[in-house]
Amino acid sequence: MKDHYRNLRVAVLGGGTVGAQVANRLLNGANELGQRSGAGLELIGVAVRSLDAPRSAPIPKKLLTTDAASLIVGADIVVELMGGIEPARSLILQALHSGADVITANKALLAEHGPELFAAATQVGAQLYYEAAVAAAIPIIRPLRDSLAGDHVTKIMGIVNGTTNYILDEMDQKGLSFEHALAEATRLGYAEADPTADIEGFDAAQKACILSSLAFHTAVPLANVHREGITGVSASQIEAAKRSGHVIKLLAICERLVDPVTGLDGVSTRVHPTLIPRTHPLAAAHGANNAVYVEAEAAGPLMFYGAGAGGLQTASAVLGDIVSAARRHVVGGPGVGESTHADLPSIPLERVTSRRQVSLVVKDQPGVLAAIAKVFSDNGVSVETLHQSPAGEDETATLVIQTHRASEASGQDTVVALEKNPVVVKVTSVLRVEG
Ligand code: NAP
Repeated sequence: MKDHYRNLRVAVLGGGTVGAQVANRLLNGANELGQRSGAGLELIGVAVRSLDAPRSAPIPKKLLTTDAASLIVGADIVVELMGGIEPARSLILQALHSGADVITANKALLAEHGPELFAAATQVGAQLYYEAAVAAAIPIIRPLRDSLAGDHVTKIMGIVNGTTNYILDEMDQKGLSFEHALAEATRLGYAEADPTADIEGFDAAQKACILSSLAFHTAVPLANVHREGITGVSASQIEAAKRSGHVIKLLAICERLVDPVTGLDGVSTRVHPTLIPRTHPLAAAHGANNAVYVEAEAAGPLMFYGAGAGGLQTASAVLGDIVSAARRHVVGGPGVGESTHADLPSIPLERVTSRRQVSLVVKDQPGVLAAIAKVFSDNGVSVETLHQSPAGEDETATLVIQTHRASEASGQDTVVALEKNPVVVKVTSVLRVEG
């Protein structure tokens, strides 16, 4: 390395799955990273909870400390990889106010306190980087923020939670029940002992919140993200999806729409199990992988695919941010604030239109199809396709009906009316369709 390079002091907060890998690479790849950054990168310490806990990659004992606040003092770049809200939030604010650039992979913190952190960064002219917070190794933050800055993103559909994708993929590929697939995910370490954050869609909602805010230049509050998990997805729904040429994925959908009530532009951000055609690019995301499908006015559809978790994989994104931060220090000048100039309102789910697939068991008797079609049309929902499976010995038949776009309210009213109709034995599944 050239000896006139500026030396930048890097503090890493957290030496766990991701932090240990980042620290290890900073120690063993410093020269190469320095060449790419135009600055020397010196790891000044790694803050942990316990000095004696095992590390997934070796960190010299002399670099470990339990005093994160002191470690930050004098650092040029602070990398927060502790997770959780506190003390991560306070430490990031401390780092920004001391003039350091901050890198974080903490989606929970960004989803809940992003505006506060971005405002602090802007106030002091520092930069907050978070490439690893959504879909880990997959570059998606920088493409949205920089590469597509001259375009208008209209829609993002993301498989942003590896655990749920693994579970749904196992159900699809092997015909497993949800419970069996979850047990497999837990055994293999894809699901945590308490899988609630993943299977109930909280993790995906945090990532949707980050993506929507970034793509639409609007601070989208986490409370405005509609969230449904995958615990209600059954093996029979997966089978029915297969028969109709679809696959069920938990999608984070961020969409720019015209609010039908106000007539104004707005943003819909929602997470729910979704039917997509098996030919859609997102259907090719198997196992615990993540994929993000972006539609932009000029660029058209774009697909980003890869590992959405893992220490080494996530460290790749964090190290990219470290190099970016170092380059910025070399060039100088204030950081680029998070753009929220569009300031679009969130559109509640009730006003969003979707296509739906409704599966129901009906009595096998004359006039049933006409009665069912009337329920849909009475509620303003137009039917796109209808498939009837042959009647069984119990004199019932199964109908799978795909609708055109209709509002959430009309869709829900239709299901309520179907359930009350005397020819309907049971509504077995209702899923929104995309793609
Ligand atoms: P982790 O394995 O649980 O590691 C957390 C680290 O932070 C540990 O080293 C822990 O110390 C330290 N720590 C926690 N609280 C602390 C405190 N109060 N003071 C000092 N140190 C503290 O977590 P991780 O999986 O590396 O995840 C780190 C961040 O990356 C999280 O925000 C996570 O959401 C994000 N992320 C992770 C992945 C992934 O695949 N793991 C993917 C994308 C994003 P000890 O080791 O002493 O306990």
